[in-house]
Amino acid sequence: MHQIDWYGNDGRVNYEPGIVKRVDCGVCNIQMNVERNVLGATSSVEAMAGKKHRHDRFTCPYVEEDWHKRIYHLKMDVIYGRNR
Ligand SMILES: [Zn+2]
Repeated sequence: MHQIDWYGNDGRVNYEPGIVKRVDCGVCNIQMNVERNVLGATSSVEAMAGKKHRHDRFTCPYVEEDWHKRIYHLKMDVIYGRNR
């Protein structure tokens, strides 16, 4: 049976430069695209503070797709037990 990674990433994840070779999307399980050694903020708090640092930015090619967002919200509902 396929193991669902309920606590996987949401299609975007950042790591310190060079430590991670590949990351699979936590939503659709496809190998994510990566931009290495990007200089920027990795959180809204950091962005608001005007800070930035180098990181490897992994992004799922489907992260902006509607079905992708729906699967993510479904997972959040299961984890946090929300009913809508
Ligand atoms: Zn994905």
